[in-house]
Formats: sequence, C-alpha cells, structure tokens
Amino acid sequence: MNAEIIAIGSELLTPYRLDTNSLFLTGQLERLGILVTRKTVVGDGLEDLKAALAESLERTQLVIGMGGLGPTDDDRTRQAVAEVLDRELEPNAEAEAWLRERFSQFRRTMPEVNLKQTLVPRGGEWIPNDNGTAPALWMELPNDRILVLLPGPPRELEPLFVERFVPRLRQRAPRRALAEKILKTAGLGESQLEEIAAPIYTKYDNPQTSVLSSLGEVQIHLRATAENSGKALRLADELSAKLEDALGNHVFARGNETLEQVVGLLLTMRGATLAVAESCTGGLLGQRLTSVPGSSRYFLGGVVCYSDKAKIKQLKVPASTLKSKGAVSAETAASMAKKVRQAFGAKIGVGITGVAGPTGGTPDKPVGTVFISVSIGKRNITKKFHFPGDRERIRRLSAQTALDMVRRKLLK
Ligand code: AMP
Ligand code: MG
Repeated sequence: MNAEIIAIGSELLTPYRLDTNSLFLTGQLERLGILVTRKTVVGDGLEDLKAALAESLERTQLVIGMGGLGPTDDDRTRQAVAEVLDRELEPNAEAEAWLRERFSQFRRTMPEVNLKQTLVPRGGEWIPNDNGTAPALWMELPNDRILVLLPGPPRELEPLFVERFVPRLRQRAPRRALAEKILKTAGLGESQLEEIAAPIYTKYDNPQTSVLSSLGEVQIHLRATAENSGKALRLADELSAKLEDALGNHVFARGNETLEQVVGLLLTMRGATLAVAESCTGGLLGQRLTSVPGSSRYFLGGVVCYSDKAKIKQLKVPASTLKSKGAVSAETAASMAKKVRQAFGAKIGVGITGVAGPTGGTPDKPVGTVFISVSIGKRNITKKFHFPGDRERIRRLSAQTALDMVRRKLLK
C-alpha cells in the first residue's frame, strides 16, 4: 500500500514553522509496511487545499491530511474534502454530544463556532480526539481508497494516530516486513562511489537504494520489503554484500557506528594507543575521538598547536623545518605526528596542519590545502589534500579524513 501525506496550514509555508508531523507519520507508516510516496505542504486556501487533496486521491490508495480541522474560519479541511468528493457535510449528533461533553469537563459551554468541528462528510466516520477538540476522520472511498484526516497539533495527532489509526491500517495494509541496512563509506566522493555502486544497486527494485553524502562520508541506505522479516533481511543482505565486495575498504560501518567509534574499536582490538597534534582543526579530532565512551583506553591525548611557537615549544617540531618548509607542509605535519606520538608515548601519532581560510591562502598553498600525517611503527604516511568549502567545512573534512587514515592503517 502506498500513501501520501498532506500537511495543511498556511503557517507551514512561512520561514517559522516546519511540517514535523509527517516525520512522525512516515515512521509509523513504515512500520506498517506502507510506503510514503509523496508529501505535500499546502496553505489554508480552499482552492489549493482542494487541488492537493484531489491530486493525492487520484494517485494513491491512502491519503492522510492533517491540520485545518479547528473551529476558525481558516480551518477548511472538512469543507475541501466534502467539495472534492462531492459529498454533503452533515451534522453528526454523536460527535456533537462528545464535543459538548468535552467542554463541560472543563466547565465551559461550547462556543457555537465549534459545531463546525462535528460536521462529517457523508460516509465518513468521526474518531474522538482525547487531547483536543477536533475529531479526526476516517473515510473509505471507492476503489479501496482511504482518506484519513488528523488534527495538526503533534500532541493530539500522535496518540490519536497510534491508538486509533494504526490498528485499522494494520488490518488494511498487507503485511509487509521492512529491513534496513546502512553502509557507511569514507574516502570516496559521492560520484566516485556512484560509479562503483550504481551498476550493482540499479539492478534491484527491492531493496530501494538511496545514497546520502555529508562531509567526507557517503552512506548507502538499503530498504527491502517482503512478506516476512527473514525474507526482507535476506534481500537487504544480498545487495549489501555485493556492494561491500565492490567497495572494499571504503566501507567503514554496516550500521549506525560512527567513524570515531570504528577507529576506537580497531585501536582496542590492536591494543594500540593514539595521540594527536592539531593545528587547523583546533581540537576537532580530539573532540570526536573523546565523544566515544571508553575512549580513555586508547586515546592518550592531544595538543592544539596553532602558532609556530606552540609547534616548536610544546611539540618540539624543529624550528628549521617550520622555517624552510612552512607551517603548512608535509614535513611539518609529519614532524607533528612523530613528536606528539613521542610526547604521549603512543603507538600512533597524527598531525594535521592546513589553511582553513578564508584568508592565509597563497598560490602554492591555497585555502583548503591540508597535510595530514600518521606516524606508526618506523613510518610516517603523509598526504596532501585540497578540501573544498568554507572554513568550517575544511576543518571538518580534515578531522574526518584523519580518522579515516588512522582506520585504514589499522586495517593493514
Ligand atoms: P490546525 O489543526 O490547523 O489548527 O493546527 C494547529 C497547530 O498544529 C498549528 O498551529 C501548528 O502549531 C500545529 N501543526 C499543524 N500542522 C502541523 C504539522 N504538519 N507539523 C507540525 N505541527 C503542525
Ligand atoms: Mg491550521
């Protein structure tokens, strides 16, 4: 079964409010095996509202509208539904009695404007709302279609949907189990990954694949559906295994683990320790490493050595190296990695130095030039990068890349 969600309310089209209800609803529907194929946000204008409803009802079996069920003039959802379906809006005595009772519980008499909330398009079924005054609506339509209307406030919508609508939908939606898998990769750009992965995943309609990219990390999300969870899992596993084969070491996690968690795990498994010397990242790397509980087992410490003086005095990077090669150079990064390793007595040392900008770039070393070095055993692996973006992005990419370099070293 496919569904569309329509968020109704002119406030949702301003810079100040966002439709968050649909996040909740998509999560609930997903568990029922109902796939949301489109979300619409529409204002309170009657014609816009009618058009949105008509289009969604044309396309999909289940349409869930929310908002615009209140008593005020701009609450027009019921009227729009009645007009689109060409059905009378009928007063409902039961709903009216229920609403009057709710008001009397709060020792108030019901204002007449609220009567509007008890109108039901012919053939619809009103559903009481335990947390507000707007009843919800369930309508069975020709061709096995269903229209659901829910009140907008999340504290009303959420319990109402879970208690009253999930059980009904569970009966109506064919049981489909969902299995999700995530592959997280580092070290590949989105298009590089796509070149490897697309020839594999485009052969499958099920699982559905989406590729999401952020700051040095590209994730592949697989969602498989089947009659039962075992079968869904097998479908997801099959594709995931093929992708993993093709992507090799670029995959750092098959699930929700973060890169810093994976690095921590590898360090623990190897009984190795780590120390970091950071210039342009100003502690971002240490911050990420220490965000993992238990990181004291393998992370010994870090130095933020921003000035040349700090690199010389605190870290003992030779002044001659800084002078002849510059603070942003492969030699300085390598020396930082080696010296911080010695200073902390760690098995692995990392040095990061670069130009995060926006100023300080030269033709030789433009903004985004970053050297990262990993010192391990008798060796130093030092790489030069040209990271794109603004200062913050360059700093984050640097920390991410340093973590990935350590990870790759530990895999060998
Ligand atoms: P309504 O049912 O149109 O009277 O909506 C009442 C209130 O519910 C609005 O002022 C919003 O604060 C909230 N609301 C409505 N729709 C949504 C939505 N899609 N996501 C989050 N909050 C909403
Ligand atoms: Mg509204």
